[in-house]
Amino acid sequence: MMQTPFVNIHTHTAKNCGVELVNIDNFDAVLNGTFVSAGLHPWKIGKCDHQQTIESIENWCCNSQIAAIGETGIDRAIDTSISLQMNIFETQLDIAKRYRLPLIIHCVRAYSDFLQVIKNESATTFIFHGFNGNSHTAYQLLTHGTMLSFGANLLKNNKLQDVFKAIPNDCIFLETDTKEMNISDIYNFAAALRNVSIDDLKQIIFNNLTRIFGNRWTTIG
Ligand SMILES: [Zn+2]
Repeated sequence: MMQTPFVNIHTHTAKNCGVELVNIDNFDAVLNGTFVSAGLHPWKIGKCDHQQTIESIENWCCNSQIAAIGETGIDRAIDTSISLQMNIFETQLDIAKRYRLPLIIHCVRAYSDFLQVIKNESATTFIFHGFNGNSHTAYQLLTHGTMLSFGANLLKNNKLQDVFKAIPNDCIFLETDTKEMNISDIYNFAAALRNVSIDDLKQIIFNNLTRIFGNRWTTIG
């Protein structure tokens, strides 16, 4: 029987370890046999042709490699106006709903903005990448069926570790994002925190993958 793979739900470079959801940073690049996400990141707002980028995202939606829209979201640590960020996010939310794709969310100091959005949205799954909120925020998000993905911050933030230990199995993903580390290192640390074996954690997260992405993840070559 096939061993349960590691799942890296958000990375910017394919590392060829298990199932990897690779974020497309350059829409002209060819990503062979990879499970990808496409989105307009809030940091790119004002630095690219928005309409053309949205068209590129829509074009990717017709490609079997696409599995999620993102990263997209709201960042309150940058100067870009929140209304413009929200507007561009909502355009992508609309694409996600039309193509029945989950969203990879970039959220900096904007959890309350998202709680307002999520309350009225049950048609798609929000995956908060690099989650670093407190437990109150975590549970508020979880009541709306969102997923929380944890990365390198988990290794050094004690409060985040407490959140991670307490939340249910069915809302967890792990990621490397831009970090030069292996997803297995995050799994090792995360399994110890939750007091489960690596194999058990692989099964928990793989179950989440198949529940949220259906058969889409199998498009990887
Ligand atoms: Zn990222």
